[in-house]
Amino acid sequence: MTSSAPAPGTECADTASTAYRAALQVIESVEPRIAAATRKELADQRDSLKLIASENYASPAVLLTMGSWLSDKYAEGTVGHRFYAGCQNVDTVESVAAEHARELFGAPYAYVQPHSGIDANLVAYWAILASRVEAPSLAEAGARHVNDLSEKDWEELRHKLGNQRLLGMSLDAGGHLTHGFRPNISGKMFSQHSYGTDPDSGLLDYDAVAAAAREFKPLILVAGYSAYPRRINFATMREIADEVGATLMVDMAHFAGLVAGKVFTGNDDPVPHAHVTTTTTHKSLRGPRGGLVLAQQEYADAVDKGCPMVLGGPLPHVMAAKAVALAEARQPAFRVYAQRIAENAKALADGFLRRGARLVTGGTDNHIVLLDVTSFGLTGRQAESALLEAGVVTNRNSIPADPNGAWYTSGIRFGTPALTTRGFGVAEFDRVAELVVDVLTNTQPEGSSKARYRLADGTAERVRAAAAELLAANPLYPGLAL
Ligand code: PLP
Repeated sequence: MTSSAPAPGTECADTASTAYRAALQVIESVEPRIAAATRKELADQRDSLKLIASENYASPAVLLTMGSWLSDKYAEGTVGHRFYAGCQNVDTVESVAAEHARELFGAPYAYVQPHSGIDANLVAYWAILASRVEAPSLAEAGARHVNDLSEKDWEELRHKLGNQRLLGMSLDAGGHLTHGFRPNISGKMFSQHSYGTDPDSGLLDYDAVAAAAREFKPLILVAGYSAYPRRINFATMREIADEVGATLMVDMAHFAGLVAGKVFTGNDDPVPHAHVTTTTTHKSLRGPRGGLVLAQQEYADAVDKGCPMVLGGPLPHVMAAKAVALAEARQPAFRVYAQRIAENAKALADGFLRRGARLVTGGTDNHIVLLDVTSFGLTGRQAESALLEAGVVTNRNSIPADPNGAWYTSGIRFGTPALTTRGFGVAEFDRVAELVVDVLTNTQPEGSSKARYRLADGTAERVRAAAAELLAANPLYPGLAL
C-alpha cells in the first residue's frame, strides 16, 4: 500500500469481518445462492483491476449502515413534515445527511432523498419547471395550488410544462443520457439541443456553447458529463446561462469527490455558480448508491418537493449511509484521496501517451482518461472484451464523431477513483498503462466483425499475473475475512 491515507475500513476490519460473517450466515439460511453471489462479488472485486470511472469501493461503515431496519420505515414528505407517523428517527437521519452535504459543498440547501443520479436530475428538472413555469402560471391565474386551476388553465399549464427547452453536452462529447436524450425521459420532457467539443482539440468551446444558447434560448443549461476528461469553467457557464435567462444546472455525478476533496475549487467548483447542482453519491464521492441535489435558496422550496413530485418514499437506510459517507468526505484524509485521484489520472494518461497511445483531448485534468482505441486498429467493444479477458475491467465509450457508433464505439473510458481507494499511486498507474497497452497491442480484430477479436497466446496470463501482484500489494478491504 503506497497511500498516505489508510483505505477505508482498515481500522475496523475485525469488527466488519465478524459482522459480515454473521450476516452471510443468516442470509445463507434463507437463500444460499444470494449469500454465495455476495461472497463471490467480493472475491471478483478483489481480483480485478477495476478501472470503471463511475465505480468505487464504499467503506465498511457505509456498507454496514445500509443493512438495517431503517429500510422498513415509510417517510414520504420531508424533515418535520411527513405523511406517515413515527418518522422521528428518519428525520434525524435525513437532517444529519443534509447538514453534512450543505457543509461539505458549501451549499445553502441540500436534498438527500433521490435514490440515484437519474432521480436527482428528475427532481432538479421538475423543481426548475415548477419555479419557472408552474409558479408564474399559478400567480397569473390567481391560484395557490395546481388543484385550484380550472380544467382549461390546467391543460394550458400541462402543455407549457411539456414545451420547454434544454441545452446540454452531446453524448459523444461526454454528456449523459439524462441531459435530454430521447431514450431517457428527459428527452421526452424537453426539446433538447446539444453543444459539443472542438473537433481539433476535443475541448469544450465556450464560444460555441454561448452561440448555441443565444440561438436556442434554453430554459435550462446543463453542464456536467460522464466521459469528458477535463474540467469545466462553471463561472463561464453561469455567465452564458445568465445572458440568455437560463437556469444553470450542473450534474457533478462523476466528479463530486473532486469537489468534496477541494481538488476542484474556484471556477472548477460548480456549487457556488450553479442554481442547482445534482450528483450521485456512489462514484468519486465513495458513498452508497444514490443521489442528492444542492440548490441556491431560490430553488430550495421546489427541490424540497421532490417527493411527491417525482419520488415516492425515501430510502432511510441509504440516506443514513449517505450521512456516513459525507461525514467521511469531510475528513482531511478524503482531501488526500481526492488529490491522489487526479494525480493518478495524470500518471495513467502520461503512461498511455509515452507508449504512443492517443487520448481524447490529449490528456486529463480530472479522474477520467479516454483512450481512442482506433490507434490500435480496434473498436471499443473489442478492446473492452480483450481487457476483460486479461482481468482489466473498463467500459467502452463513444469518442467525439465516433466512426463506430454508440454500440461498438471507438474509445475505452478509464477512471482512477476505485484503484486509488485501494492505495494505487502514480507508479502503479503507470504500470496499469503498460499492461493495458500490452493487451491492446496483442489484440487483433477477427475478420470484419466489430466485436470479435483474438488475443495473442499468453497475453491474458501475463497481464493477469502482473495485475495480481499490484492487487496483492494494495488489498481491497484489508483484513476483512469472510
Ligand atoms: N449523471 C451522470 C453525469 C452520470 O454519469 C450518471 C451515471 O452514470 C447519472 C447521472 C445517473 O446515475 P444513476 O446511475 O445513479 O441513476
